[in-house]
Amino acid sequence: ALPNSSKPPWLRQRAPQGERYGELFTQMRELKLATVCEEAQCPNIGECWNGSMATATIMLLGDTCTRGCRFCAVKTARAPPPPDPLEPANTAAAIASWGVGYVVLTSVDRDDLPDGGAAHYAETVRALKAARPSLLVECLTPDFAGDMAAVASLARSGLDVFAHNIETVERLQRRVRDARAGYRQSLEVLRGAKAAAGVYTKTSIMLGLGETDDEVIDAMCDARDAGVDIFTLGQYLQPTATHLPVTDFVTPEKFEHWRRFGMEEIGFRYVASGPMVRSSYKAGEVFVESMIQ
Ligand code: SF4
Ligand code: SF4
Repeated sequence: ALPNSSKPPWLRQRAPQGERYGELFTQMRELKLATVCEEAQCPNIGECWNGSMATATIMLLGDTCTRGCRFCAVKTARAPPPPDPLEPANTAAAIASWGVGYVVLTSVDRDDLPDGGAAHYAETVRALKAARPSLLVECLTPDFAGDMAAVASLARSGLDVFAHNIETVERLQRRVRDARAGYRQSLEVLRGAKAAAGVYTKTSIMLGLGETDDEVIDAMCDARDAGVDIFTLGQYLQPTATHLPVTDFVTPEKFEHWRRFGMEEIGFRYVASGPMVRSSYKAGEVFVESMIQ
């Protein structure tokens, strides 16, 4: 990662603070919950955890991915350890007794599992909704290798938002994502989730990988054509020197342009767009906003 001093001023990190943040942090430790927010040292943690609808992201299915995307620092292996069968119940119990209003469940890709882990996600969603029905649940999922039965069963699990990221524009897919991922396959996953359960769907792209404006427009239009409700755009940051380099730092004004374009011209229910925006950035508030649109 670049040191703070060589980044544009809008990307310099602030230390998290705030009363709600402090409370959630203490509870999280007591509950022994592992959040992506804390483990990835996400710079948005103060904003997400202090928001009116406090949002946190939890990783299921272990820390080892069967794929290797060139933008992602997660460790990889062909055969990661099998999932913990008690994880859905245990994680759900801990999250349900925590103070967040909105949880994003996400995972690595598990091409080694017959259903890619879809049933594991679904079990966690059902346990969460049984324990605390008011908790809003988003699943930020892999593509399940295009297994539409897996997609449909998860979409029908009772989740509130089905999210899956196309990550970048069509031309750069091969350069950025693992060869088993693909633009059309990801759009089909989003289309399939919507068709199976009518749930809200959400996708995200990173900017700063060499994409042109026309390609961004195409990606946004293709996502809308696939029925996507919520679109997010953020700056790509190189996690280590061996990952894909950043081609440019997109200005906050340009991100604002894409936000307006997505909402006013394309008709997304909501667009979150900014240098530090990630797919799960203030996802609780984003979902509430998208419902009022
Ligand atoms: Fe957590 Fe996502 Fe917010 Fe970062 S952007 S603090 S990972 S919910
Ligand atoms: Fe990272 Fe997801 Fe790619 Fe795995 S599939 S390497 S977790 S981005």
